[in-house]
Amino acid sequence: MRLLQSLVSLLLAFCMLAPIAHSAEVNIYSHRQRVLLAPFLEAFTAKTGIETNVVFAAKGLAQRLAAEGKASPADLVLTVDIARLSEYDSLDLFQPVSSDILTSAVPAHLRSPDNRWFGLSKRTRIIVTHKDRVAEGAITRIEDLADPQWEGRICTRKGSHVYNRALLASLIAHHGADAATKWAEALVANLARKPQGNDRAQAKAIYAGECDIAIMNHYYYGKMINNDKEPEQKDWASVLNVVLPNQNDRGAHINITGGGVTKYAPNRDNAVALLEFLVSEEAQNLYAAINYEYPVIDETKGPSGLDGFGALKADKLPIQALADNALEAQMMIDRVGW
Ligand code: FE
Repeated sequence: MRLLQSLVSLLLAFCMLAPIAHSAEVNIYSHRQRVLLAPFLEAFTAKTGIETNVVFAAKGLAQRLAAEGKASPADLVLTVDIARLSEYDSLDLFQPVSSDILTSAVPAHLRSPDNRWFGLSKRTRIIVTHKDRVAEGAITRIEDLADPQWEGRICTRKGSHVYNRALLASLIAHHGADAATKWAEALVANLARKPQGNDRAQAKAIYAGECDIAIMNHYYYGKMINNDKEPEQKDWASVLNVVLPNQNDRGAHINITGGGVTKYAPNRDNAVALLEFLVSEEAQNLYAAINYEYPVIDETKGPSGLDGFGALKADKLPIQALADNALEAQMMIDRVGW
């Protein structure tokens, strides 16, 4: 009996000690680049005293987390794109988080229905057109890119890139598979060249006269127009008009950056604290300042220092629908040869 008592008290002492030993850190698996993350983490540590450790990798983190299982040191996953968040979720690598701060800050359509992941910033896929070669106002909707009047004038990266796949998934969600197929076929028929390069390469192609119209994530415009390191990118951006699509109907297609607390997080409370910090006014302003991203907490604010990117009317489609329609979108992309 005495042995049991001392065992129990030993166990109790351990339980009390264990959280203290872990209370001052949070371990992050990140698909986001270190430079983009650092200012957030520094501000978080300054505010809370909680140290952050980051494992950064573009690929393979979900597989690593799954393989590590309960032994994983990871507390929090930070990533870009709903497809990635959904991948972690479908591998059952996240745990639900009940936090009034998170559920009141992040609109319901930008988090998972059971609060296993949360959108932290928004990016929209814009249309850019050559200032002189395409009349202002001639294109206002993503659907307009299917118009045969643009034959041979559009450039895009490959359809199979997550950015384009999510865009097509949104069209499937809104218009159905048949209409989305027709749009994709017509878009491909309008292409000036075989899909290639990244988003910024499309702006370069417009500058070079290869095409007049392109699709890109909005923050790349900011990265180009203010690019002191590679000033030629300023030239590419300088010939562009920016179109925020679908502002007079459902709103522009958006994607998110986001995060989720891992299923076996050893420092769970610290991970939740970091997520809560990331939706604070201070951190949300950082998203706009560092990478021109739109906040999730405010519909009216645009990225700072970027003309023409004020209030954005964003599509209110539950963002999970983009992941749900991703496979169908990919098959469509293969079929139409985007
Ligand atoms: Fe990007």
